[in-house]
Amino acid sequence: MIDKYEDPFVRISTMIGGDEYLKVARSLLKSEDATDEEIASSTGLRINMVRKVLYDLFGKALITGIRVKDEKKGWFVYRWRSRRDEVENFIEGQKKKISERLQQRSDYENSSDFYHCGNNDCSRVTFENALELFFKCPSCGLVLNLKKNDKSKKAFAYKIDQIKKDMRQN
Ligand SMILES: [Zn+2]
Repeated sequence: MIDKYEDPFVRISTMIGGDEYLKVARSLLKSEDATDEEIASSTGLRINMVRKVLYDLFGKALITGIRVKDEKKGWFVYRWRSRRDEVENFIEGQKKKISERLQQRSDYENSSDFYHCGNNDCSRVTFENALELFFKCPSCGLVLNLKKNDKSKKAFAYKIDQIKKDMRQN
Protein backbone atom coordinates (compact mmCIF):
# COMPACT_ATOMS: atom_id res chain seq x y z
CA MET A 1 0.00 0.00 0.00
CA ILE A 2 2.71 2.47 0.99
CA ASP A 3 6.48 2.18 0.66
CA LYS A 4 9.63 4.18 1.27
CA TYR A 5 9.50 5.67 -2.22
CA GLU A 6 6.20 7.32 -1.43
CA ASP A 7 6.39 11.11 -1.00
CA PRO A 8 7.01 12.16 2.66
CA PHE A 9 3.84 14.23 2.58
CA VAL A 10 1.82 11.13 1.71
CA ARG A 11 3.67 8.99 4.24
CA ILE A 12 3.13 11.39 7.12
CA SER A 13 -0.54 11.87 6.20
CA THR A 14 -1.03 8.10 6.21
CA MET A 15 0.65 7.85 9.59
CA ILE A 16 -1.76 10.45 10.96
CA GLY A 17 -4.99 8.92 9.75
CA GLY A 18 -4.62 5.80 7.61
CA ASP A 19 -6.15 4.92 4.28
CA GLU A 20 -8.44 7.92 3.76
CA TYR A 21 -5.55 10.29 4.47
CA LEU A 22 -3.38 8.37 2.03
CA LYS A 23 -5.94 8.86 -0.73
CA VAL A 24 -6.48 12.55 -0.03
CA ALA A 25 -2.73 13.22 0.21
CA ARG A 26 -2.01 11.48 -3.09
CA SER A 27 -4.85 13.37 -4.72
CA LEU A 28 -3.50 16.71 -3.40
CA LEU A 29 -0.08 15.98 -4.89
CA LYS A 30 -1.56 14.91 -8.21
CA SER A 31 -3.71 17.97 -8.69
CA GLU A 32 -2.76 21.09 -6.83
CA ASP A 33 -5.44 23.57 -5.77
CA ALA A 34 -8.26 21.05 -5.97
CA THR A 35 -11.58 21.66 -4.20
CA ASP A 36 -13.05 19.20 -1.71
CA GLU A 37 -15.52 18.07 -4.38
CA GLU A 38 -12.76 17.44 -6.89
CA ILE A 39 -10.82 15.46 -4.30
CA ALA A 40 -13.92 13.46 -3.43
CA SER A 41 -14.51 12.49 -7.03
CA SER A 42 -10.85 11.62 -7.70
CA THR A 43 -10.52 9.49 -4.53
CA GLY A 44 -14.00 8.00 -4.41
CA LEU A 45 -14.32 9.09 -0.78
CA ARG A 46 -17.45 10.69 0.61
CA ILE A 47 -17.33 14.50 0.69
CA ASN A 48 -17.72 14.56 4.49
CA MET A 49 -14.73 12.28 4.90
CA VAL A 50 -12.67 14.41 2.51
CA ARG A 51 -13.55 17.54 4.49
CA LYS A 52 -12.70 15.88 7.78
CA VAL A 53 -9.27 14.88 6.45
CA LEU A 54 -8.66 18.32 4.92
CA TYR A 55 -9.56 20.20 8.11
CA ASP A 56 -7.33 17.92 10.13
CA LEU A 57 -4.36 18.37 7.78
CA PHE A 58 -5.07 22.10 7.70
CA GLY A 59 -5.11 22.21 11.50
CA LYS A 60 -1.72 20.50 11.51
CA ALA A 61 -0.41 23.10 9.02
CA LEU A 62 0.32 20.42 6.43
CA ILE A 63 -1.93 22.00 3.79
CA THR A 64 -3.17 25.48 2.96
CA GLY A 65 -6.53 26.54 1.66
CA ILE A 66 -7.17 29.47 -0.62
CA ARG A 67 -10.67 30.91 -0.72
CA VAL A 68 -11.74 31.60 -4.28
CA LYS A 69 -15.01 32.40 -5.97
CA ASP A 70 -16.47 29.63 -8.06
CA GLU A 71 -17.56 31.53 -11.17
CA LYS A 72 -20.11 28.93 -12.25
CA LYS A 73 -21.79 28.51 -8.90
CA GLY A 74 -21.31 32.07 -7.73
CA TRP A 75 -20.13 31.16 -4.22
CA PHE A 76 -16.81 30.79 -2.51
CA VAL A 77 -14.92 27.51 -2.36
CA TYR A 78 -11.59 26.51 -0.92
CA ARG A 79 -8.77 25.23 -3.07
CA TRP A 80 -6.34 23.08 -1.19
CA ARG A 81 -2.62 22.70 -1.59
CA SER A 82 -0.11 20.47 0.17
CA ARG A 83 2.68 22.11 2.17
CA ARG A 84 5.43 19.59 1.60
CA ASP A 85 7.95 22.04 3.08
CA GLU A 86 6.09 21.73 6.41
CA VAL A 87 6.50 17.96 6.70
CA GLU A 88 9.91 18.17 8.38
CA ASN A 89 8.65 20.75 10.88
CA PHE A 90 5.68 18.59 11.67
CA ILE A 91 7.85 15.53 12.31
CA GLU A 92 10.21 17.56 14.51
CA GLY A 93 7.23 18.90 16.45
CA GLN A 94 5.93 15.38 17.03
CA LYS A 95 9.34 14.22 18.24
CA LYS A 96 9.50 17.16 20.60
CA LYS A 97 6.08 16.27 22.02
CA ILE A 98 7.09 12.65 22.49
CA SER A 99 10.34 13.59 24.20
CA GLU A 100 8.49 15.96 26.55
CA ARG A 101 6.02 13.22 27.44
CA LEU A 102 8.85 10.78 28.07
CA GLN A 103 10.60 13.36 30.21
CA GLN A 104 7.49 13.82 32.35
CA ARG A 105 7.16 10.09 32.89
CA SER A 106 10.84 9.84 33.65
CA ASP A 107 10.57 12.69 36.17
CA TYR A 108 7.70 10.84 37.80
CA GLU A 109 9.74 7.62 38.06
CA ASN A 110 12.52 9.60 39.69
CA SER A 111 10.23 11.57 41.99
CA SER A 112 9.62 8.84 44.52
CA ASP A 113 10.16 5.27 45.60
CA PHE A 114 7.26 3.06 44.61
CA TYR A 115 5.52 0.34 46.56
CA HIS A 116 3.59 -2.65 45.27
CA CYS A 117 1.82 -5.72 46.62
CA GLY A 118 3.06 -8.06 43.90
CA ASN A 119 -0.42 -8.59 42.51
CA ASN A 120 -0.51 -7.92 38.76
CA ASP A 121 -4.01 -6.46 38.94
CA CYS A 122 -3.00 -3.77 41.42
CA SER A 123 -1.11 -0.59 40.69
CA ARG A 124 1.95 0.92 42.32
CA VAL A 125 1.73 3.62 44.98
CA THR A 126 4.23 6.29 45.88
CA PHE A 127 6.10 6.21 49.18
CA GLU A 128 3.91 8.98 50.58
CA ASN A 129 0.73 7.08 49.72
CA ALA A 130 2.13 3.80 51.01
CA LEU A 131 2.81 5.52 54.31
CA GLU A 132 -0.77 6.80 54.52
CA LEU A 133 -2.04 3.29 53.74
CA PHE A 134 0.16 1.73 56.45
CA PHE A 135 1.79 -0.28 53.66
CA LYS A 136 -1.38 -2.18 52.91
CA CYS A 137 -2.51 -2.43 49.26
CA PRO A 138 -5.72 -0.38 48.79
CA SER A 139 -7.05 -2.90 46.24
CA CYS A 140 -6.26 -6.34 47.63
CA GLY A 141 -5.04 -5.71 51.16
CA LEU A 142 -1.68 -7.43 50.80
CA VAL A 143 1.48 -5.86 52.19
CA LEU A 144 3.12 -3.23 50.02
CA ASN A 145 6.82 -3.73 49.38
CA LEU A 146 9.38 -1.47 47.81
CA LYS A 147 9.40 -2.04 44.08
CA LYS A 148 12.63 -1.09 42.39
CA ASN A 149 12.10 0.91 39.21
CA ASP A 150 15.72 1.18 38.12
CA LYS A 151 14.92 -0.66 34.90
CA SER A 152 12.18 1.72 33.84
CA LYS A 153 14.28 4.71 34.89
CA LYS A 154 17.06 3.45 32.64
CA ALA A 155 14.63 2.68 29.83
CA PHE A 156 13.22 6.21 29.94
CA ALA A 157 16.67 7.76 30.05
CA TYR A 158 17.70 5.67 27.04
CA LYS A 159 14.59 6.54 25.00
CA ILE A 160 14.96 10.25 25.76
CA ASP A 161 18.60 10.12 24.78
CA GLN A 162 17.77 8.38 21.49
CA ILE A 163 15.05 10.79 20.49
CA LYS A 164 17.22 13.82 21.36
CA LYS A 165 20.09 12.49 19.25
CA ASP A 166 17.63 11.88 16.45
CA MET A 167 16.35 15.47 16.68
CA ARG A 168 19.83 16.98 16.58
CA GLN A 169 20.69 15.09 13.39
CA ASN A 170 17.93 16.78 11.46
ZN1 LIG B 1 -2.73 -5.36 45.73
